[in-house]
Amino acid sequence: MHKYKNISNGHMINSYESYAVRNPANGDSLGLAPISTADEVDTAVQAALKAQKPWSEISDNERKEFIQRVADVLESNSDYLAKLITQEQGKPLAGPGSRFEMQACVGWTRVPATLELPPETVYEDDERKDVLQRSPLGVIAAIAPWNWPLMIAIWQIIPAIRMGNSVVLKPSEYTPIATLEMVRLINDVLPPGVLNTVSGDGTIGAQLTRHPDIAKIMFTGSADTGRKIIEASANNFAPITLELGGNDPAIVLPGTTAKNIAEGLFWGAFLNMGQTCACIKRLYVHEDDYESVMAELKAVASQMTIGNGMDEGVLIGPIQNRMQYDKVRELVSDARMNDCDVVEIGEVPDGGFFLPITLVGNSRDGQRLVDEEQFGPALPIIQYRNLGDAIASANKLEAGLGASVWANEPDQASETAQQLEAGTVWVNQHGAIHPMVPFGGHKASGYGVEFGIEGLKAVTRPKVISIKK
Ligand code: NDP
Repeated sequence: MHKYKNISNGHMINSYESYAVRNPANGDSLGLAPISTADEVDTAVQAALKAQKPWSEISDNERKEFIQRVADVLESNSDYLAKLITQEQGKPLAGPGSRFEMQACVGWTRVPATLELPPETVYEDDERKDVLQRSPLGVIAAIAPWNWPLMIAIWQIIPAIRMGNSVVLKPSEYTPIATLEMVRLINDVLPPGVLNTVSGDGTIGAQLTRHPDIAKIMFTGSADTGRKIIEASANNFAPITLELGGNDPAIVLPGTTAKNIAEGLFWGAFLNMGQTCACIKRLYVHEDDYESVMAELKAVASQMTIGNGMDEGVLIGPIQNRMQYDKVRELVSDARMNDCDVVEIGEVPDGGFFLPITLVGNSRDGQRLVDEEQFGPALPIIQYRNLGDAIASANKLEAGLGASVWANEPDQASETAQQLEAGTVWVNQHGAIHPMVPFGGHKASGYGVEFGIEGLKAVTRPKVISIKK
């Protein structure tokens, strides 16, 4: 069985321990992933430390060229990596699946390669001039999740190296293979040590984030682990970008034509089988529109084929891992016991972590499926009578990553959008992220933003040169 390897200082590392990674669609073993030792974590950080200064000293234009070459590598290996993503993560090759994930990797690499953060005169008068410049931070620890394993790793890696930092990346233990392969390929066009990996199954993330030579931590995952990382940063004073998922509400305004929005609502909720940080996880619909919204959602859902994502035509794959599969089933079973109207759509293949598309009508605030992040293909639909009540419900949870408002005319949605507490409020779309548009959460969904100029600033430290004239 093929043994995948970490990379440190441009060299493949022969780890002693490894574990089998399995395809969530059928349980097949895909290969062995390495388990780093504490020494290997230190070696990777030291390699990154050694590489960082020379990397930061090359010209900005040279770094941009390196990053364009990374994008070329991603583009030319898209097919290979997309197939690995599908086999390991579960999302289908087709539709908004792994080919789409690879296109996003290329886009989120090329865009930062075109952006600039030049020194800025922030104040000037007859007596003084103050110039703000941005320096790299040093070695960045990046901990990527299993839902969009390559795309989110790229969100962390590219801005970091664009600004002259080096990176030690730790993929999720559920999805290490495609990420290790991507980093191996990228390393062919980067100087050794600029991008390194460690991997493991339970202690490596903590060792990496506590390391005294880590200058910044980028983490996407659960709020519980986010809290631990905040505590760990007391050791090294590393600033953190935390993207901790959400429980995004969508509010359909009274009188909105259900047919026009059903497909947008469907993919807003069921993208990647609902395993997306900014997915619709609670849908608020006016009581007069409830029947029509349910009917149109069922119509869209019934067009989907559920199955092994390697088969063309499949648009809905399995849940990525047993932990998540059990969690979604438990929340749906709780909804069923609370007299919700549980509608399961789609034929589910045997074997693998497959679940039907599940619409849970007559859901109510306070129920587990509404209040907890399901991170799976089960959407609670809650009826409201007064819009003010729906807005209050939408805002009452701790999460605040995304939200959306759906209306016949976008202008009708602006007042409601202003009142929703979230890092991004979309109108007539959900989760529509873009590499130029800052993205980040409020409240327990984390802090710091990624993407665009703001994302570049987040991987630098500001330094002022203040001159007396
Ligand atoms: P976690 O949030 O627990 O993240 C796991 C990752 O964090 C692993 O790489 C792990 O590495 C690392 N880690 C664990 N403890 C620490 C620590 N103390 N310091 C630093 N790193 C640490 O996610 P899970 O995969 O367990 O998923 C749990 C829930 O998170 C899901 O059910 C889902 O709701 C949510 N989630 C949200 C995502 C999002 O996009 N926002 C993505 C994925 C999940 P190691 O094992 O080596 O310690």
